Amino acid sequence: MSAGLPIVEGGASAGLLPVCEVFHSIQGEGRLAGVPSFFVRLSGCNLRCAWCDTPYASWSPEGEARSVEWLLERRRESGAAHVVITGGEPAMFDRAGVLCERLRGEGVHVTIETAGTIARDWAVDLWSISPKLANSTPAEGDERDPGGVWRARHEQRRINIDALQALIDRPGQRQLKFVVRDEGDLGEIDALLARLRGWAPGEVILMPEGLTPQALAQRSAWITRVCLRRGWRYGPRLHIELFGNTRGT
Ligand code: SF4
Repeated sequence: MSAGLPIVEGGASAGLLPVCEVFHSIQGEGRLAGVPSFFVRLSGCNLRCAWCDTPYASWSPEGEARSVEWLLERRRESGAAHVVITGGEPAMFDRAGVLCERLRGEGVHVTIETAGTIARDWAVDLWSISPKLANSTPAEGDERDPGGVWRARHEQRRINIDALQALIDRPGQRQLKFVVRDEGDLGEIDALLARLRGWAPGEVILMPEGLTPQALAQRSAWITRVCLRRGWRYGPRLHIELFGNTRGT
């Protein structure tokens, strides 16, 4: 893949999608963890998480413009019955809705991974919504963010209650995944959930922040205790546990 793909919010040119990578792996996160899936990673994001594990789709977006037909053909070759459209932020791209429609027309289960800042009315099977907590905001002086432009923009954009509610209200299944660093994050999650309706405790998933199996393991004990108390789910990050933080997994 070539670097430096120009990313335009709202959609790529000529009906194409900015594709960072496609690959066949197991779903690493959420209620479908362990399910063989074909991944479409779109390039470009309206946020800049400090700990983003796919900076090549956000901080420095890479990839090539691809057609929906090209993506459908790659999925067919994979034989996967589940497709995960992720990013970056797939909801930025109008054409991703067409991809969802065409995939479902072929009988494929479609998951959208989104931070929930942009409401879309696409027909999908699972809205996998991952609101970004304050622990995601780039620190002052982050060398990737001269002048703190993205720090301010990220903070202003990361929570959009109207968009989150609209996505929760969509038909199909949903899950609310939170990447947590320490128990100080719980108050923010509680405050956010209190502003939303129509979700069930079993749809709330806490995942440890960390890009190595060791970092994940350090947080797993207290997260498990919290989930037991509240009826929430502990969310493993199988792809990191199995493959490390590597591309194409
Ligand atoms: S929303 Fe996702 S892709 Fe975008 S910066 Fe955050 S972790 Fe990375």
